[in-house]
Amino acid sequence: GETLLEVKNIVTEFRTADGQLPAVRDVSFSLQKGETLCIVGESGCGKSITSLSVIGLLPSNGKITSGEILYEGNPIHNLPQEKMRKIRGNKISMIFQEPMTALNPVLTIGYQIREPLMIHHGLSKSEATKQGIELLKQVGIPYPEKRMNQYPHELSGGMRQRVMIAIALSCNPGLLIADEPTTALDVTIQAQILDLIKALKEKYNMGVMMITHDMGVVAEVADRVMVMYAGKKVEEGTVEEIFNNPKHPYTIGLLNSVPNVDDPDFELESIPGSLPSLNEQITGCRFHTRCQFATDICRTKEPTVYEVSASHKVSCWLTEEGVNK
Ligand code: SF4
Ligand code: MG
Repeated sequence: GETLLEVKNIVTEFRTADGQLPAVRDVSFSLQKGETLCIVGESGCGKSITSLSVIGLLPSNGKITSGEILYEGNPIHNLPQEKMRKIRGNKISMIFQEPMTALNPVLTIGYQIREPLMIHHGLSKSEATKQGIELLKQVGIPYPEKRMNQYPHELSGGMRQRVMIAIALSCNPGLLIADEPTTALDVTIQAQILDLIKALKEKYNMGVMMITHDMGVVAEVADRVMVMYAGKKVEEGTVEEIFNNPKHPYTIGLLNSVPNVDDPDFELESIPGSLPSLNEQITGCRFHTRCQFATDICRTKEPTVYEVSASHKVSCWLTEEGVNK
């Protein structure tokens, strides 16, 4: 494939009362055109901050303090706001978990879908209306003409997410970032939205970066998977490698947390303990405080990257020592 996005050793820090705190610690990955990369981990692991770093929507106290992000070979990290806005209007789009917060409740769907088409693509109002209806059709919204005159609260959660996807598509993006896009939806609607994202990815040969905590979603959409823990990438591989041959104890814990649909009473094997806070000093492997396999080296030395295969990489001493092979 053709490389769309390259993220190289980025560190993203937040200025806080406790000083500069890193939320993303030296993370690298790449994405090909037409490929879906799932970034997976618990809430607070740095996956959302990684995606906000890529699209330039970090909160005002957040900053990429080192590393680079290349989109089609051009650096886009820490561009001036104006230039980044252009990139968001033309190349990279993002959808979020709760479309209600991203949609303006007092403006019609039509207004909100026309606006980016008029601003970024110079369409007239009537051209934008036509194009908007076309986009709503493409994301599977019935009676799109009627929907144009409605307000967000008149639509179901699933329909609102479809509207958000239509707005995201309006700039014909090369990269779609989706942060937990189906978490707020019930299972049936969730499956429909994931199918829609997959179909649109195929149709437009987009790169998709999907942020999720749900391994069920990963199984559904991912080509490749990157697992994050406490601001670090701990494992990366193709979806087959991650599901059939997981190496990192955290990845294995996440896989065991998939709810069993056939047996709802089945005890979930969750990972005991919780993520360290941003200002917690941890030496060695950042997972050692929760890892049942931790040994002395884990507590003192950060694990190096072990290549299971050319596409499968893991940072864990167990793998290095061959115990987990
Ligand atoms: Fe567990 Fe050690 Fe591997 Fe970290 S390096 S995940 S503590 S075994
Ligand atoms: Mg998040």
